[in-house]
Amino acid sequence: MTATPLVVLENVNKHFGDLHVLRDIDLSVQPGEVVVVIGPSGSGKSTLCRTINRLETIDGGTISIDGQLLPKEGRGLARLRSDVGMVFQSFNLFAHKTVLQNVTLGPMKVLKKSKADAEQRGMELLTRVRIADQAGKYPAQLSGGQQQRVAIARALAMNPKVIMFDEPTSALDPEMVQEVLDVMTDLAKEGMTMVVVTHEMGFARRAANRVVFMADGQIVEESSPDEFFTNPRSERARDFLSKIL
Ligand code: ADP
Ligand code: MG
Repeated sequence: MTATPLVVLENVNKHFGDLHVLRDIDLSVQPGEVVVVIGPSGSGKSTLCRTINRLETIDGGTISIDGQLLPKEGRGLARLRSDVGMVFQSFNLFAHKTVLQNVTLGPMKVLKKSKADAEQRGMELLTRVRIADQAGKYPAQLSGGQQQRVAIARALAMNPKVIMFDEPTSALDPEMVQEVLDVMTDLAKEGMTMVVVTHEMGFARRAANRVVFMADGQIVEESSPDEFFTNPRSERARDFLSKIL
């Protein structure tokens, strides 16, 4: 049985000036699937995430989300973008808003939810990421791990069909990495569709349905975590793994 893929990239190409940063990318993500993207620095992983939620345009190819072709620009983009959640390495919370306001702002502005509805759902999500007790605080009063969990709740508040995580634990002190990975593992178990750029190989082994290995703007290899970690097919992947494991 094959479901209709939720995210489909076909022959996606992207340049930054002379730099060919994404080369002929074909990638499908099934509903409920957790795809972990790994690869050396500069290989195009962040750009891939950013094109999927249209923070970056593409020069060639197509991207569709849940059967809808992403327009190059223009109307409907905000709505489409809300289908794709994004969690960044640097949290990107609104510094002058409380934790709860960070989570309710998008639903009120973009989804036109009432304040009461947005707050009720916001508190549910803060509970889900285990941080409801911090709802009235400002981001600077929170640890990095707590801020990142707020960012995850904020992404969830838009009811995205898929969430992109771009190295969500890379900026965290080591003792805070696990609390964020635990929340992500819960989401994966609950069936959230996720694309996760990470160097956390333990998470990749446990939570990924599929590993995508990128180098030089290309998908070099795609396989199950088991296969990828025990028997990588490409020289590039073997070389990469030998440096990080
Ligand atoms: P990764 O996330 O795998 O480290 P990136 O997608 O961030 O890789 O970057 C891929 C390449 O594109 C790098 O060489 C980077 O310097 C370049 N790049 C990324 N963003 C821009 C930009 N806005 N303008 C020019 N070059 C960029
Ligand atoms: Mg990156």
